[in-house]
Amino acid sequence: MSCGRSPDQSGPVAFATVTAAPSEALPSGLEEETSRVGRELAAALPSRARHPMRALDEKAMELSSRDGELRAALFRFVDVTPACRSLDDLASHLTALVEEVPKRSSSLDAAMRMADTRAGRLALGAAAASGVRHMAHRFIVGESPAEALGVIGGLWRTGVGTSVDLLGEATVTAAEADRYAKRCSEALRVLSEAHAHWPRQERLEADSTGPLPRANLSVKVSALTPLLRPDAPGVGRDDAARRLRPLLLEARDLGAHLHIDMESLDSLETTFELVFELLEEPELRAGPSVGLVLQAYLRDSPAHLERILGFARASSARPPLQVRLVKGAYWDHEVVEARQHGWSPPVFEVKADSDRNFEALTRRLLDARPAVRVAVASHNLRSVAHAIAYSRLRGAPDSDLELQVLRGLGDDLQEALATRGLRVRSYCPVGDLVAGMAYLVRRLLENTSNESFLQEQASGADLDRLLAPP
Ligand SMILES: Cc1cc2nc3c(=O)[nH]c(=O)nc-3n(C[C@H](O)[C@H](O)[C@H](O)COP(=O)(O)OP(=O)(O)OC[C@H]3O[C@@H](n4cnc5c(N)ncnc54)[C@H](O)[C@@H]3O)c2cc1C
Repeated sequence: MSCGRSPDQSGPVAFATVTAAPSEALPSGLEEETSRVGRELAAALPSRARHPMRALDEKAMELSSRDGELRAALFRFVDVTPACRSLDDLASHLTALVEEVPKRSSSLDAAMRMADTRAGRLALGAAAASGVRHMAHRFIVGESPAEALGVIGGLWRTGVGTSVDLLGEATVTAAEADRYAKRCSEALRVLSEAHAHWPRQERLEADSTGPLPRANLSVKVSALTPLLRPDAPGVGRDDAARRLRPLLLEARDLGAHLHIDMESLDSLETTFELVFELLEEPELRAGPSVGLVLQAYLRDSPAHLERILGFARASSARPPLQVRLVKGAYWDHEVVEARQHGWSPPVFEVKADSDRNFEALTRRLLDARPAVRVAVASHNLRSVAHAIAYSRLRGAPDSDLELQVLRGLGDDLQEALATRGLRVRSYCPVGDLVAGMAYLVRRLLENTSNESFLQEQASGADLDRLLAPP
């Protein structure tokens, strides 16, 4: 089955528009139940007053999203921060970037005047550095798995599971890929050891297909090999397999879950082939628990889902494959790349199409249980409420649906879901600030985009609008 673009397709590619199947019969009462669940969750969102720092961050994000030039300058600043050697250095970068903003607010102008003296520059640099560090700590839970255990254990005790993501983008050498694999192995050990001592949390321990692993690690194929190339998927796949195989064996022995993240479309074929082939190896047929990601913004995602389900149904021995449904984090990249080549983008270009497809895929995934375990990963109240409502209308217990959020972006929703007794997992990046910069910039861009649900919610859109069908 074809997925994505084959290397020899150099001309424009016509994609069929695939949204919800027109013939699909929706259960009666789905809209009413979605709205009811959405309102219940909205009422359970924590009050801003209890999280003043978070409210402050959101104010800063809202300001920067309103001013495109300032937003661009701030993103460039976040980018250069890791390369700065001193606070002086940091301040001069900040002033140089802000100087490019044509219309500045009075507070920005005052800050610029401070930068005229060395003492002023030091003070400004310290404030800027601490701002960036504060923002990064909202998204990144610790510099190492051991250091992150405080946050991860705290979440566990409030009934929230985690999946740890070791930051470190763009592996360009074999030594870097080896180092990443070694860090993954260490994380599996540290997390399994710590989880073994934590108290039982009923809703995180099992669903109707069996026990759920406590320790959970997300890995990226692009970090496991420097040889990922869409024109030679076999080379990257074999090189990544050399490092992923021992990690899967270790996860099996420790009883941990390993989730393979999905990145841009040019690595999708390699990722699918890698996972399907490794899981067919005799020593991996009975475990560990493994997960894949399905990206609803891809027009071909319904075919990707059929491919995943075909694999999952044919291999009943191991714990069911978990499918994390997301919309997709590489939208700008996919659109720009396709346009550069004169292709039509492989992603939907209207946000509502991605949202509708997300709901159609949610229903198909939930109907495919118990062949797969389903994790719906979104901060969009409507998308999440729709998944919970559909699952309930199908007669499934809430324990057969996992909801996932990103640390720092989905904290409020996570709290609302956990207080309503639902199973929620927070995706927690771990790593140093330098490695975390690319991650941080992506999350900031996502959070301040005009198309983002969180941005619409933060700007005060009313609940009826937020919960309306896409
Ligand atoms: C736990 C977790 C794990 C994740 N893991 C991955 C992963 O492995 N791989 C990955 O790619 N992403 C991953 N993501 C990110 C995810 O894909 C989304 O980027 C993010 O969750 C925002 O989507 P939303 O439903 O929360 O918000 P919404 O605001 O409802 O949706 C935003 C999304 O809509 C889509 N979109 C935006 N503009 C348009 C447009 N003009 N036309 C069509 N579609 C548009 C984009 O996908 C964008 O991210 C993960 C998210 C979570 C919560």
